[in-house]
Amino acid sequence: MNLIIMGLPGAGKGTQAERIIDTYGIPHISTGDMFRDAMKNETALGLEAKSYIDKGALVPDEVTNGIVKDRLSEPDTKAGFLLDGFPRTIEQTHALEEILKSLGKQIDAVINIHVEEDVLIERLAGRFICRDCGATYHKVNNKPKVEGTCDRCGGHDFYQREDDKPETVKNRLAVNITGSAPILDFYKNGNLLNTIDGNRDISLVFDDVKAIIDTI
Ligand SMILES: [Zn+2]
Repeated sequence: MNLIIMGLPGAGKGTQAERIIDTYGIPHISTGDMFRDAMKNETALGLEAKSYIDKGALVPDEVTNGIVKDRLSEPDTKAGFLLDGFPRTIEQTHALEEILKSLGKQIDAVINIHVEEDVLIERLAGRFICRDCGATYHKVNNKPKVEGTCDRCGGHDFYQREDDKPETVKNRLAVNITGSAPILDFYKNGNLLNTIDGNRDISLVFDDVKAIIDTI
């Protein structure tokens, strides 16, 4: 079973990915891990990627695609794999098609964990921090016992990190939504896209994920 998992930040993609690999025993192929391994093992492409990363530059697509191809050629992907974080652009989507074709493989299903944008904003932008002791809270999931008072130190001065502010979160989501739209369209046209409501209990979401995988 060759799978791709997609989902916006905060949608719970990582949790579902973990459950998939635990249940089905296929390797989790995330771009971050792939890059780290290629650099650690000092493969030709890994060294090339490192030269860009060290300069603070973006790794060009042909290098990334080469690393993906190397990884998908490894024997542990024979029974399947779960791609996570790749493809990130429509160009990479087309490149992945070519890679898979050259390896005699194909994608069996794309699992898209969908959560409405305003719910994601609430999840991602809810974090705030006590300025006095650094205790972290969440305005929905983890509120202080007494509103406005830190449980740990009794302080009343809270702040939000720049990354946790609603405007920042909204922008990050907008970039992700725009970027993933053509990829989702591509797999929808290929009848591979399965969109799951991610705004439910983790186990219920995973039941739906399993139902999709078990039809492969
Ligand atoms: Zn405190």
